[in-house]
Amino acid sequence: MINRDGANVSLWQDSIQPYRSGTTPTTRQVYDVIIVGGGITGVSTAALLQESGKKCLLLEAANLCFGTTGGTTAHLNTLLDVPYSDISKKFSKEVAKTVANATRNAIQLIRNHINQYDIGCGFTGANGYLFAQNEKQEDELESILKASKEAGLPIDYCDDIPVPCPFTKAVRVAGQAKFHPLPYVYALALAFEKAGGIILQDCRVTGVEENGVLNVETTVDNYRTRNVVYATHIPPGVNLLHLRCVPWRSYAMALTLANNEYPADLSYDMEDPYHYYRTQEVEGRSYFIAGGKDHKTAHEDNTNNRFLQLESHIRKFFDIKEINYQWSSQFFESADGLPYIGHLPGHPENIYVATGYGGNGMVFSSVAAMVLHEMLTKGNDKYDNVFNPNRVKPVAGFTNFISHNADVVKQFAGKWFSHEQLDELSNIAAGEAKVVEFENRKLAIYKSTEGVIYALNPICTHLKCEVKWNNTEMTWDCPCHGTRYNYDGKVIAGPADQDLERIEIRELVDK
Ligand SMILES: Cc1cc2nc3c(=O)[nH]c(=O)nc-3n(C[C@H](O)[C@H](O)[C@H](O)COP(=O)(O)OP(=O)(O)OC[C@H]3O[C@@H](n4cnc5c(N)ncnc54)[C@H](O)[C@@H]3O)c2cc1C
Repeated sequence: MINRDGANVSLWQDSIQPYRSGTTPTTRQVYDVIIVGGGITGVSTAALLQESGKKCLLLEAANLCFGTTGGTTAHLNTLLDVPYSDISKKFSKEVAKTVANATRNAIQLIRNHINQYDIGCGFTGANGYLFAQNEKQEDELESILKASKEAGLPIDYCDDIPVPCPFTKAVRVAGQAKFHPLPYVYALALAFEKAGGIILQDCRVTGVEENGVLNVETTVDNYRTRNVVYATHIPPGVNLLHLRCVPWRSYAMALTLANNEYPADLSYDMEDPYHYYRTQEVEGRSYFIAGGKDHKTAHEDNTNNRFLQLESHIRKFFDIKEINYQWSSQFFESADGLPYIGHLPGHPENIYVATGYGGNGMVFSSVAAMVLHEMLTKGNDKYDNVFNPNRVKPVAGFTNFISHNADVVKQFAGKWFSHEQLDELSNIAAGEAKVVEFENRKLAIYKSTEGVIYALNPICTHLKCEVKWNNTEMTWDCPCHGTRYNYDGKVIAGPADQDLERIEIRELVDK
């Protein structure tokens, strides 16, 4: 099993061993590209660049697929969460066509890689079904159908759907697919290393000095490069894109069904938030994967409840034999619905980013790999600047990039609490956590199942919002920009890369 950025175990992470890299970076070399982040975006981009002769180094803070790639549900879609009707309206019909073309090419790229490297990742082509359950949804479905057709998707009304959910109207779209994302990422990582690329895990990038050749500061050493790609899901530091990307959490379950009727295709209802369904065979066993119950990060008091809601929703239509896995993970939605892929706003031209995929990062990561590959090898944008992050209008008075981290004033420096005092103050059971107020200051307190207390300053080290406890993944999550910390304040997902301030605890009661 591999580690992931949450306490729940996903179907994917449980079915694979940690990736063992066979390469070591050197501080002497000036790399062509340093790719930061070892999820599907980083590895796909690195593989394409190295294949073209660029000398690349990939740096991952934890382990490959530690982030959302390890907590995805891995539908491969050209029919996107943001409907083509919206894309046509907000941008143009031409842009909708370009996006449809880019996502089609992305699925083709994945297929080509699977053939080229003979990757056993259960990739299967599938139809996608989107179904309406009332008149309002039917109207919406009609406009999605029309705009999707105009964008070039092979889509039309159909009479039946593959899941036993009630529906009034439905459309079927061809050309979708599904796979197990982790063997795919591992095989690309291996191909990348075989082609001369270097991977370093357990290496967090903490800063980039932008002076000619870039000096990349990390928790291991400093490395030099001509270009940096932030494939960190959301870029670290303080950037305009943080004001344009909203963090969301989605919930998923992998189940076995009593009647063994596993739907081969992909299905989606039109509730808000919508539910998504598919099947994947892993190690010879079929799993029905259902997901949904999304909410903005840290906007739910009891995240465990979302699993209960999801389970009760699934039980309405499916005969569950066993719930084998349940997990949740985070994604970032962009302000206008399209991802940001290209030059990182407010930086020199040699710093790149790919973010804001919404719930379609499995395909947009390959779109990102293609766009960044073309920019870094040929200097053009493959998709006519449609995904250009600099389409974002600058915000008056906002300095694009302040530093890797905002200056965080240590509120509790020199102050300490006793274990007993914190226990009394928080009044929580073992395994629980809470933000409490004490002498006009707030404390984030977690009591482990063994009764050990951890106390933190709840102010996020990114832009100073107050974190909230996520009781299902056992993390402190920031509602503003999605930084996530462990129970002990250690940052596990950016944009912040400084830990929460830890509060000193002494065993003395007398102060
Ligand atoms: C529940 C759920 C279901 C989903 N289902 C689908 C789906 O069916 N289809 C689909 O297309 N999309 C889906 N998505 C979205 C998709 O999974 C993501 O968009 C995608 O996995 C993002 O990949 P990534 O490589 O960009 O980011 P990540 O996988 O998050 O990888 C980023 C990596 O960067 C590393 N990192 C961060 N900061 C640093 C640093 N400073 N230094 C070094 N390394 C760093 C992290 O440790 C992490 O490993 C889903 C999302 C969720 C939450």
